[in-house]
Amino acid sequence: MKVAILPVGQVEQNVLQYIQETIPKIFPRTESVILKDPLTLPSEAYNTRRRQYSSSFLATLVREYLKKTDADKILGITTADLYASRLNFVFGEAECPGKAAIISLHRLKPEFYGQSSNQSLFLERATKETVHEIGHTLGLTHCSNNSCVMFFSNSIIDTDRKQQFFCVKCFETVQNRLKKR
Ligand code: ZN
Ligand code: ZN
Repeated sequence: MKVAILPVGQVEQNVLQYIQETIPKIFPRTESVILKDPLTLPSEAYNTRRRQYSSSFLATLVREYLKKTDADKILGITTADLYASRLNFVFGEAECPGKAAIISLHRLKPEFYGQSSNQSLFLERATKETVHEIGHTLGLTHCSNNSCVMFFSNSIIDTDRKQQFFCVKCFETVQNRLKKR
């Protein structure tokens, strides 16, 4: 499959590059590209009371953008803090199954939790959220194995506990979805 990475608002180039290089290492038969033309964060998606952006609003725009590309899947990446109805925040959101996903880097930096900056930890967390949301687009649901990347992260503690890889069972599903047709 081909995964297009779409920056939504300003996103550091080295983070985008890291994610682009990591996707094909985890998903078999997969390539990944960074789209040159970032999406601007629309003010309509901003909730002034919550001071957060609507995840589903942005996911819809990301989904629309896919039509302009030749990719199979599209992953929006933003530094904005995202919320969904009834949830205080979300790390990301994806169609399950589907073609579009979005992740937020906002709560992945150790600085957000009052800790000192740690770029490798930050990139590892971003990888986990990326793999998790792309997994959803392939139709994978949440896994009960808390070290599997498809385990639901309720907090950063869950994210740090799990690996950036699929468990054997989930990886089997991924391989089936991505095998030659
Ligand atoms: Zn999930
Ligand atoms: Zn699993």
